[in-house]
Amino acid sequence: MTAFAFSTVASIVSESNATARLGQLIAERFPAVRRVLLVTDAGFLRTGLLDGPRRSLEQQGMSVSVFSGVVADPPEHIVMDAVEFARANDIDLVIGFGGGSSMDVAKLVAVLAGNEQALGDIYGIGKVQGSRLPLVQIPTTAGTGSEVTNIAIVTTGETTKMGVVAPQLYADLAILDAALTLGLPPLVTAATGIDAMVHAIEAYTSKHKKNPMSDVLARQALGLLSANLIPACEQGGNLEVRQAMLLGACLAGQAFSNAPVAAVHALAYPIGGIFHVPHGLSNSLVLPHVLRFNAPQAAPLYAELAGIAIPGASGSDEARTDALIVAMQQTARLTGIQTTLAQVGIKEADLDRLADDAMLQTRLLGNNPRDVSRADARAIYAAAL
Ligand SMILES: [Zn+2]
Repeated sequence: MTAFAFSTVASIVSESNATARLGQLIAERFPAVRRVLLVTDAGFLRTGLLDGPRRSLEQQGMSVSVFSGVVADPPEHIVMDAVEFARANDIDLVIGFGGGSSMDVAKLVAVLAGNEQALGDIYGIGKVQGSRLPLVQIPTTAGTGSEVTNIAIVTTGETTKMGVVAPQLYADLAILDAALTLGLPPLVTAATGIDAMVHAIEAYTSKHKKNPMSDVLARQALGLLSANLIPACEQGGNLEVRQAMLLGACLAGQAFSNAPVAAVHALAYPIGGIFHVPHGLSNSLVLPHVLRFNAPQAAPLYAELAGIAIPGASGSDEARTDALIVAMQQTARLTGIQTTLAQVGIKEADLDRLADDAMLQTRLLGNNPRDVSRADARAIYAAAL
């Protein structure tokens, strides 16, 4: 058997309405904690969904500070604002409360608040020194899986991003509470949910680090996500369905944190960076075309996934791979999200720049089951136009 290593967060609570007793959950695990920081964005703060969890913490005798300055694709100065805020309030536990951006900022605050290192010194893999503050992650979308990954992405220029990857970024506790996701609009539910499906698919076909544990997680994730995505879009208030989506996204996050994502994400990043298309939608736009490109190498694995995503899928590996691609296209169409690059304002004349930028994603492209040349990348974008 091939040797492998697998890491994830120490503890996970998957329970609808769990954050109503957040104070108790924290006090049980971190009895010495007194000053808690919630890291979130202004939009989520306005929903009022933080009020209950906040009261619950205060009832346990903890003081609560809220940093609500997180924005999508957070730039360095926002991260540093949050770090300064944590230092000024002498915080002893950090809770990320939101989508991927809030949870990523929470990771960096937990690392930097009590550390001499500068943000610029920890970009890359394994550059974080020493320990961090206790860290809890609570996702409010079912998509990024950031609550169980060891990576944080920061925007460093107009369209450039840097990643911090370190074992310290794994949280101590992740709480999956579907009550926080009931109000997500259908189009956001769709795009974030498809992103999670991409995490499962790309982890399952990841070239070097896929392993028996990431495989189990990816398969279970895709089963949950494919069975519940359309119901979650159609019946947003269904707590059971929402909890299944959150769990699916979390399992997919655990899978791809160990067996990293590949060409779908590599080609999606420039779409997000240049055209400010949300991450999940960017992935969904290129997904079927990357799957078709990969099929000559990955058909046996895609066929296995088709058996999970499509009840009754049968036939040759090629036939089942084709069924998987068609099913993903149908899912996107049924939800009403955009399905072509043209629909998000991208033109033929933009494809060269997209292909150039995609080729810079060498870390991701190296995980793809089939080598991607610049001409291949451009052809995939052209097919997605
Ligand atoms: Zn993603």
